[in-house]
Amino acid sequence: MNIRQSLQTLQSSLATSERMPLVFLGHGSPMNAIEDNQYSENWTALGRSLPRPQAILVVSAHWMTRNTTLVDISAMPRTIHDFRGFPDVLYTQQYPATGAPELATRVVDMLRSHQAQGDETWGLDHGAWSVLTWLYPDADVPVFQLSIDMSKDLDWHLDIGRALSPLRDQGVLILGSGNVVHNLQAMVPGGQPTDWAHEFDQLFASHLTQRNLPALSNRKMLGSLLRIAHPSLDHYLPSLTVAGASDEKDKLTFMNEGIELGTVSMRSFLFHDS
Ligand code: ZN
Repeated sequence: MNIRQSLQTLQSSLATSERMPLVFLGHGSPMNAIEDNQYSENWTALGRSLPRPQAILVVSAHWMTRNTTLVDISAMPRTIHDFRGFPDVLYTQQYPATGAPELATRVVDMLRSHQAQGDETWGLDHGAWSVLTWLYPDADVPVFQLSIDMSKDLDWHLDIGRALSPLRDQGVLILGSGNVVHNLQAMVPGGQPTDWAHEFDQLFASHLTQRNLPALSNRKMLGSLLRIAHPSLDHYLPSLTVAGASDEKDKLTFMNEGIELGTVSMRSFLFHDS
């Protein structure tokens, strides 16, 4: 069954679900924001299958902070073109969704023990808008971002997810955007997946399937494989936050399994009620 068929099967259960599903998307190249390809087609199909959220909280790989977790509380987040060397058309893209200041301020309170603070300077980076533009092309659902605190270890990011999980009962879609494997230095343009990229991608999927979340955040166990799959952890951490917000009642569905440029896994996943 391909992802579109499985999303159709999922659609009825998603539509009647009490809780919002959780979504992690591998975003890959910024060009995916404007290219019709297998990934963007599946993002469109996913957007049509999901229940309509009251608001979307995005945890993007591209908003990195240290010693604090920032929550965008602005009323109109700007579209940030945070990349270099791409065609001009990519820099003209806008995603004019409103923010969700009241809800975002509540999230700051929910994450008080995680040193969260409100912020009005960020907006929507391409980790957020390059996928939202396919999921919700009319930009008619309020969106706000949460930063990733790069000074904290992996457990912390699972724990942030745990703290955010009550939002699922309040119509909020928690959307992580990063990549399960992300090593741009070792890219192989046009090449096959490297052995280690494939191995980490499979290991991640296996731990997630078994709900072995401690293994996903155990640096010692992940060892050198984690270091080569993620020379910097920014694209990994949003997947932990999404996993941390899930619980035993959730079903897990993977989509967009594939490794681009040898070293960038596009693997995406949803947690949802049965
Ligand atoms: Zn990225």
